[in-house]
Formats: sequence, structure tokens, C-alpha cells
Amino acid sequence: MKIYNTLTRKLEEFVPITPGRITMYVCGPTVYNLIHIGNARPMIVFDTFRRYMTYRGYEVNYVSNFTDVDDKIIKAANEEGVDASEISERYISECKKDMEGLNVLPATTHPQATKEIPAMIDMIRTLENKGYAYKASDGTVYYRTRKFTGYGRLSGKNIDELESGHRSEGHTLKVAGTEDREDDFDFVLWKPKKEGEPYWESPWCDGRPGWHIECSCMSKRYLGDTIDIHAGGEDLIFPHHENEIAQSEAANGVPFAHYWMHNGFLNINNQKMSKSLGNFFTVRDIAARYDLQVLRFFMLSAQYRSPLNFSDELMESAKAGLDRIRNAVSNLKDIMVNGSDGDMTEAERGALSEALRHRERFNEVMDNDLNTADGISVIFDLVKHANTTTAEGATKAYAGELEGIITGLGEVMGLILETEEEVLDTDIEALIEERQQARKNRDFARADEIRDELLARGIQLKDTREGVKWSRI
Ligand code: AMP
Ligand code: ZN
Repeated sequence: MKIYNTLTRKLEEFVPITPGRITMYVCGPTVYNLIHIGNARPMIVFDTFRRYMTYRGYEVNYVSNFTDVDDKIIKAANEEGVDASEISERYISECKKDMEGLNVLPATTHPQATKEIPAMIDMIRTLENKGYAYKASDGTVYYRTRKFTGYGRLSGKNIDELESGHRSEGHTLKVAGTEDREDDFDFVLWKPKKEGEPYWESPWCDGRPGWHIECSCMSKRYLGDTIDIHAGGEDLIFPHHENEIAQSEAANGVPFAHYWMHNGFLNINNQKMSKSLGNFFTVRDIAARYDLQVLRFFMLSAQYRSPLNFSDELMESAKAGLDRIRNAVSNLKDIMVNGSDGDMTEAERGALSEALRHRERFNEVMDNDLNTADGISVIFDLVKHANTTTAEGATKAYAGELEGIITGLGEVMGLILETEEEVLDTDIEALIEERQQARKNRDFARADEIRDELLARGIQLKDTREGVKWSRI
């Protein structure tokens, strides 16, 4: 597997620290709002990376955080007149619903910043003891950026150049309230509380952690001092990831992450997505118009590092593409029931070898820095192959093999290839089964509740002597 490593700016062969295992940390969202489709891109692409590596036999320990203390969360809480934790818990739970709709697997661990404060205080203390952190008179603790010699390696930035750029743009070097910060590029590790803000006690002052220290600590706590892969959107390269490296390597004395993966940005109609331009969609907005699998398919139709443009037209073509694959799978399932019995024919055995070669090619293109765009083309080739080789009828056995190959690759991509109707039917049958159980347990309230829920979804139940029958109203 070759991965483009932002740290070395090269495609590199992936070699894990421990054979067969991968430790991976992906920066997650700040939870003050419903997630937007830009946030969904890293979730989908790195979930696909995880699924692909699992399919290639690795055990992946995948950690992705929720940033649940932040200015934006506090602002939203003040606007609603509720606790900050009410806002963050609400949007964590909404985010998990969106992830489920996108078929993004839950992380091995989803740490939350507010639950990791003691570890952050520990790390800041270590940095202070080693001379990498200092306290200003108002209680703010800063990281002494110039002391870390590797600073700028990930982003390719140099502090002196940054500083002169900063000056020529007319920035005043000393911002109000930062009088005793030693250097303009020193960043906050701990900040004092303000009226009405959540805070924790610390050796420096009552306050809260800076954003960068959160990820350094959560990565260390759940994955260790040195990890295989750290990932996120490309906007995080500087300063977030640069600062994480400075903190972790100064505190732990070992390299932080061997590979740095960054996804490109999602734009809307070729413009940067932003609230002020009004071209801003939440995943929930899209869910009202499309099956979220279409959004996932759309995201995977580009390699993760390229910029991706979102438009109605491209979503329509993603929908058509996904339907084409689903139709082929549905045809194969039909043949698996109605096709001819017995062994595969000679011609089918040949056609199956060809299908297996397509699957080999899928592995090759995905091994090339997770080229999901090419991966999807291979799935289309398989669909075409399936359609042509079964057009004149086929054996159940051959159809079964092809169906297994295509849905298997769909699963690697996290794409549900059953049609919406089929998914719905499985869902309904599960509810009917639960209702039968409830009745057996004489839990009639739950049984009635399920009947009403199904009715609300347009499903009518009829108890007959042969069991429960259902129909769409
Ligand atoms: P945030 O909540 O802003 O910290 O973002 C959470 C994740 O979403 C980070 O990995 C960001 O880099 C990523 N992200 C935010 N906006 C976009 C976008 N428009 N396209 C791709 N990734 C994005
Ligand atoms: Zn982070």
C-alpha cells in the first residue's frame, strides 16, 4: 500500500510499527452545530481507508475525537441559555446519526476533550518542566514555539518567513491581552476562564485547554506516543497539526506519527463552502433529498486528496451511478433464485476468472494511495461484465459468485448495494419480529407502539392464521 505522506511530500510504501496492526487518529468535528458535508468528507474517506486496510488483513485501532469545548460551543450555549455540555452532547448524538446514515463505522474510541482534562494538564506540566511552556501573568500558558527545532516541517513553513509575512500584512505583533507572550508564534496550551464559561482547576489558573493539546493527549492516551497515521482535512496542516507535533514530540521525546494523510476540500459550485456565502449544506439537508449512500458514493468518486466540487448535477450523476450498480446486484439476486440449477458452465467459469481479475485490479488501484475513483471504475467494469455474461440466462451458482464479489467490494467502500426497498423490507421485518417477541412477553404496550410506528411509515399489519402479513397502504 502506498500512501502520500504530507510530512515527506512523497508517495511512500506503508510500513506499520507493528506488523498487521494500524494505529490511526483522525481529527473529528467541533460539535456546536449539525455537521456539514465538508466535515463528512474526512469521515467518509478515512472510514473507507480503515475498511480497505481491514479487508487487506490489518487490525485497525481507529480513534476519532469530538472537540466538545470551544468558543463556538460556548457561544451557541449562551445564545440558547443552556449549558455548553447540553449543546455538545446534542450535536455529538446528531453527528452519530449522520455517521450511521453515511455508513461510517463508529471509531474504536471516540474520546471527548472534556473527559480528558487531567491528561492534558499532565502533558502541559511536562512541557513546562522541559522548558517548552510558560505562564503569562493572566494565567495563560503558552507553547514556546521557537524552542522546538522541527517546527514547520509538516507544513513546509518557516517561522521567520511567517513572521515577516505577518508584519507586511500590517498585523501588530502584540495583540491586546497577550503582552507577555514571548513570541508571536507561541500558541495557547491553557487559557483562563471568562465569566460564564466552563472551566477546570489547574496548576496555572481555573480555565480550559487550547484546541491543539486536546488531540496530542487523546492520541497518546488511546494509541501511544508514536502512531502509524494521523489524518484530517488539509486545512488542519497548519497550525493544528504542526502544533500537535511540536507538543507531542517535545513532551514524549519520540516521533508523533509516521504518516500524515490529508483530504482535499469540498467546494460548492466551485466556491468555498461558507455560511456567509449561503452555500452551506448540512448532511441533514442532503438526507432530506437523497439516500445518504448517494453522498458517500459521490465523495468516493474522487481520490481523497483532490478538491471535490459539489453540485446538484454531480449528485444526480452519483445517484444514477449507484443505481446502476444496485440494479446489477438486484438482477444477480434474481438469478440466484430463478436461474438454472447445477454447476457453472465452462463459459461461466472463464467469465468468473475474469471477474476475479477485476477484483485484483481493484486492490491495485486502491493500493495506490486509496484511489477510490479508480476503485469505483473497476466496480462499474464488474457491473458491465455481470450484465453481459448473464444477459442470456445464467446458473444460480455463477450469479451467486458475481453477487458476492460486487457486494464484497461495495462493503469495502462502505456502500450499501441493496436497493432502498430491500433495506426497508429488512427493517420492517425486524420490527415485525420484535413485535412478535413483545407479544410473547405480554408487553402489549411495545407491540402496539411498533404497530403504530409501522402504520406511520405506511405499513399495515394483518394477523392471519399463517402469521403476520404486511402491506403498503
Ligand atoms: P472542524 O469541525 O471545522 O474542526 O472540522 C472537522 C473536520 O472536517 C476537519 O478534519 C476539517 O479539516 C474537515 N473539513 C471542514 N470543512 C471541510 C471541507 N469543506 N472539505 C473537506 N473537509 C473539511
Ligand atoms: Zn486534531
